[in-house]
Amino acid sequence: MVTSSLPRKIIEYPDPRLRRKAARVEIFDGKLEALVKRMLELMHEERGVGLAAPQVGVSRRFFVYNPTGEPQDDAVLVNPELVDLTELVEAEEGCLSVPDVRVNIRRARRCKLRGQDLTGRPAELAGEGLVARIWQHEIDHLDGKLIVDRMDGADKIANKKAIGDLESRYRRASAKR
Ligand code: ZN
Repeated sequence: MVTSSLPRKIIEYPDPRLRRKAARVEIFDGKLEALVKRMLELMHEERGVGLAAPQVGVSRRFFVYNPTGEPQDDAVLVNPELVDLTELVEAEEGCLSVPDVRVNIRRARRCKLRGQDLTGRPAELAGEGLVARIWQHEIDHLDGKLIVDRMDGADKIANKKAIGDLESRYRRASAKR
């Protein structure tokens, strides 16, 4: 029964489920654990470095990440909050829910993350560089924000075709349902 309810794939822009503000996780049980395991699988299959619950259609505040791709670096944060953001830097980002789109985004180079682990215990982490960027990107997902919302004029021009393709693919898929 559990396996049949696990997500089969990552949902893509412009699916409206990516736009909802996710709710806090209140129950830390085997269901949450199974979902996290499945999200890590999907993230690795697509060679991503992070995946938030709304990207598999679950409107809850947690995400998985792994900055290196090595199994021992798999991590999860539940009910995360960013604190002490410092020093803005720009870098290019992609997103598993917005394939083929790359956007230059200014984010804090260093920050802290407060939240809970998979058992509900409080966690506080400090990160910089790629890890700090992943955290900020994934928390955007929990608030319904996507990299397409952070494009400047040049990004809009560079990504126009890829975004148009995603929108028509979504329309065709919706028409079939
Ligand atoms: Zn993303």
